[in-house]
This record gives sequence, C-alpha cells and structure tokens, in this order.
Amino acid sequence: MAARDTFLSFNKPHLDEQEIAAVVAALRSGWLTTGPRTAEFQSAFAAHSGHAHALGLNSCTAALFLALRVAGIGPGDEVLVPALTFAATANVVVHCGARPVFVDVDEQGALDPAAAEAALTPRTRAIIPVHLYGLPAHPAALRGLADRHGLVLIADCAHATETRVGDVHVARFADLAAFSFYATKNLTTGEGGMLTTDRAEWHQRAVTLSLHGMSQDAFKRYSESGFRQYDIHEAGYKFNMTDIQAALGLEQFQRLSARLARRTAIWRRYDAALADLPLSLPADAPEGVTHARHIYALRLPGDRDRDRLLGLIQEENVGVAVHFRCLPLTSYYRESGGWREGQFPVAEAISRSTFSIPMHPYLTDADAESVIAALRNALSRLG
Ligand SMILES: *Cc1c(COP(=O)(O)O)cnc(C)c1O
Repeated sequence: MAARDTFLSFNKPHLDEQEIAAVVAALRSGWLTTGPRTAEFQSAFAAHSGHAHALGLNSCTAALFLALRVAGIGPGDEVLVPALTFAATANVVVHCGARPVFVDVDEQGALDPAAAEAALTPRTRAIIPVHLYGLPAHPAALRGLADRHGLVLIADCAHATETRVGDVHVARFADLAAFSFYATKNLTTGEGGMLTTDRAEWHQRAVTLSLHGMSQDAFKRYSESGFRQYDIHEAGYKFNMTDIQAALGLEQFQRLSARLARRTAIWRRYDAALADLPLSLPADAPEGVTHARHIYALRLPGDRDRDRLLGLIQEENVGVAVHFRCLPLTSYYRESGGWREGQFPVAEAISRSTFSIPMHPYLTDADAESVIAALRNALSRLG
C-alpha cells in the first residue's frame, strides 16, 4: 500500500485569506499596474536586502538580464555561471550577446571560487553565483575574486530571499542581486522578481530599461502631480511589476519569518528521520548563517538508479523534483557552447544523484511523516 491515499504535490502556493484579501483590495483600488503598492514593496524589500535600491519586475529572469545590461555586459564578454543551476542564470547571458562560461560547483552545489579563478580570461566581466537551495555560495571569497579582477558580482538570489551571513543579507556581497517571486519560491507574487543594488545610476537605468526606455514611469505620468511629457531614451523592455503582484508580495513579506520557521521545523524532522537511510542529507547552515531552506535536496550515493527511485516515490503518492540538471550538458548549451561530459565532475555527479522532496510551510506533520514513509518504502523497493 502506498504511504498516502492522496497525492502530495511537490509544492503548493502558500496563500492565506489575508493575502487573497490584499489582492482583492488592489483590484478594487482602481490602480492595477505599477503604482503605490509596488513602491511600498520596493522600499520594504530594499530594507530587507540591505541594498539601497530595489526595483520590482515581472521575474527574476528579467532582474538578472537587467543586471547584466546596466553593468554593460555585451558581445565579446564572458560571464562565469555555475554548471548546476536553473536555465535562466545562463540564458540571460546569451540574451545580452555575451558568452556564459560554466564553472564546476562544490559538493554543496555552490560555484567553486577556485574553479572560477581558473576559468578567468581577459574577456571575463562578471560572475553570477547562485545561492543554491538557500545556502550562501561563498559570497566573501567571490567578492574578493571579483574585486581582485575588476569583475561585476551578480547574485542569483532566487532561492535566497531570507539568506544571511551574520546580520548581513547575502545580496549585499554582490553589486547587484536578483530575486524570484515565482509561484514555488519562498515569497511569491505568482510571477515576479526584484533587482537590488547600491548603485543609484544602475538602479535608474534599470528603471528606465524595465519600462520601454521611457523617462517617467506610468505611475508618475498618470498621477495628480501635473501633466508630464515622456521621452524615450533607449529601446527598453516591458518588465515592470504590477500592483496586483506587489499587494501579494507585501502580505507574503509579513509571513516570511513564520514560514521559514515552519520549513526549518520540517527540515529538522526530515534530518532526524532520514539519518539512518543510505542517502546523503543536505548540508546544514554553518554557524551564524541563516539558511533560507528553500529546497531539501538529497543525494542517492553510488551508481544506484535515481530516476527509478523518483518513479517509486511518485508511486507512493509523493511529488519529487530534480534541482538541477547539469546545465551545460543540455542540448542547447552542448550545441552552442560545445560543452561535454567530464568538464564538470561535481555538477555532473550531483545532477545524476540529486532529488528533492516536498519542503513548504503548508506541510502538516502528518504530510512530513508520509514523505518519510514514502522514501523508506521506495528505497527498500529499489533494492
Ligand atoms: C526560479 C529560478 C530563477 C528564475 O526565476 P523567475 O522568477 O521564474 O524568472 C532563476 N534562478 C534560479 C536558481 C531559480 O531557481
């Protein structure tokens, strides 16, 4: 018999009635697109990240892309990207006309500073570390490397909304940081993202680029402060955040620490219950580090068949996922970049053996127990 009667999906949006009410209030306010709620969310998020400026956008992908654009990355440039990440981290480099140079990761899936140093060429202009699963990916070492070689450090904080080193948000080690509010992320606006930085001129340029290259944003254009003619400074994009998204984001923000506390409790329960199984458990946070606990990624050691295990867990009515495939070995990057097996020994080994189990704040204790039972059953059936 399966561990559960009903299927437990890998993730589900964390929404309570107050969050739904906040969105309804935004709909009734008469202001749907970028406006007062976006401005409020941006201020709150800037304070949270420790960066002076925050710009609400329609995705983390847009934030990463604008980070590269405002830093002046373009054709002829190389950008170091970890080999184990979501496609967006490298795709945006291609969209800028630059070349992503993939770098191997360490056993925790973090971009390895020594491998990054070895990959530098005279064309290297930027590094995009990913704070994978919610753990800091060597922020101080990569800050040092960037400073020694005059590189721009752009943090992919899609998993790291809550990640801190001591009192300092991990975003602050970087020149620019990109956050994701996609449906499955720790803070969601359905779809959405945020770009943070201390550099006022980069922030201003990102504001302009995010809305057609227009001189005044729509909020100012249509507000009561008097008619203002607009001008187009460059051929910009359409990446702005709506007030519907920001209304949800502001409410989610109120619940960020309570939800992290709940995920931490589930994490500890998994750690305790799975310790005796033939699996590698995820690394925990070093002393003084706040882990955002976004993804609970295990590894199936040796040459055992991970994909078969995933099928067996699904048969136990528990959803699973893989974070991530070794990105340079996907079809597009093989064909466009000539990347091959053997270039990323650690990322390839993680890519073959990793799997993630449900980790969200709406899991009940009974759900967590059923995940543990499903994993035990699946492992014994795997043989
Ligand atoms: C989700 C994710 C992104 C992209 O976020 P979007 O908001 O969907 O654009 C980028 N990088 C990583 C590591 C992610 O997990």
